[in-house]
Amino acid sequence: MFSQLYDLKAMLPGELDQLVGELDEPAYRTRQILNWLYAKGVRDVREMTNISKILREKLAERTRITCLHLVKRQESATGEAVKFLFELPSGQRIESVLIVDGTRRTACLSSQVGCPLDCKFCATGRMGMIANLEAGQIVDQLLQVNQFARERDERVTNVVMMGMGEPLLNYPAVVRALKLMRLKEGIGLGGRKVTVSTAGYIPGIRRLMAEDLNVGLAISLNATTDEMREQLMPINRKYRIADLLAVAREFFACRGYGVTFEYVLMAGLTDADADAQRLAELTRDIPCKINLIPYNETTDLRFRRPARQRLAQFYQVLRGCGVEFTVRHSRGRDIDAACGQLYHQQKK
Ligand code: SF4
Repeated sequence: MFSQLYDLKAMLPGELDQLVGELDEPAYRTRQILNWLYAKGVRDVREMTNISKILREKLAERTRITCLHLVKRQESATGEAVKFLFELPSGQRIESVLIVDGTRRTACLSSQVGCPLDCKFCATGRMGMIANLEAGQIVDQLLQVNQFARERDERVTNVVMMGMGEPLLNYPAVVRALKLMRLKEGIGLGGRKVTVSTAGYIPGIRRLMAEDLNVGLAISLNATTDEMREQLMPINRKYRIADLLAVAREFFACRGYGVTFEYVLMAGLTDADADAQRLAELTRDIPCKINLIPYNETTDLRFRRPARQRLAQFYQVLRGCGVEFTVRHSRGRDIDAACGQLYHQQKK
């Protein structure tokens, strides 16, 4: 027996080619294995019935296939969000969400169990850092969410790395998973159909920019002064708003398309007219998108969603400054579809 089993779901085609070669098998076996993994969703190499029994036995000795255990699936009453709670072999739990928006089906995936960044408004942040996910565990979230979509004659059209964890702090596994997501033999989600969302870990952003990976980048800005951002997001002590704006400019220069700034609107904290004006000022000369997110209320009473009138006023001030923006309406508020919330519900 080999001491360490390769996870087939985390292997890139070149690595599979090498393994197949080591097993004295023809190169076309790689395509067959990928087809079994991604198109047919097998959980065990013994189910790969069009490859020889001998190869199946050899593969079983050298490899494993990551399959997360689905603990619970919860659909919102409106059908706009479906939340998946998965358990890892360690017993730790993570979550993913399928977001339904017109013809778009977006899988929101986790990259870590918990998160070290401790954003004060975030349920996952309160868990602290527990573990990094493996690439196969990230890919399997997508495969299982997509399998659910396929059962409804749909398919996942977009991915956002915006679930539990800071993806750029689990860089090798996340980038490997991003490469696997775009395999044409697999889910085939290429280019900017995949977005990495970061709290602003600048070394990770620079590293991602240097990759041959045309993914979108979203930066959670969430405040317009360093004082407020530092209170809400401790990472701002190290990577400040001016640094984020600078790296957003670099990103555009490098990629030819801009980042998305995510901005969570929290009553009395980030929703003042002055915030709208500063947001316009900060982003004025940066090619970027602005996505406003009215806070998804939790049991944490320190943070509240602004009243409807306040939201309308904020939007009006921003428009008055000539800023275009989108508003992400909360899908699945009835199932706590914000990162980390289902996990906490299960723990009670
Ligand atoms: S908002 Fe994102 S980066 Fe911040 S603590 Fe939560 S999961 Fe981590």
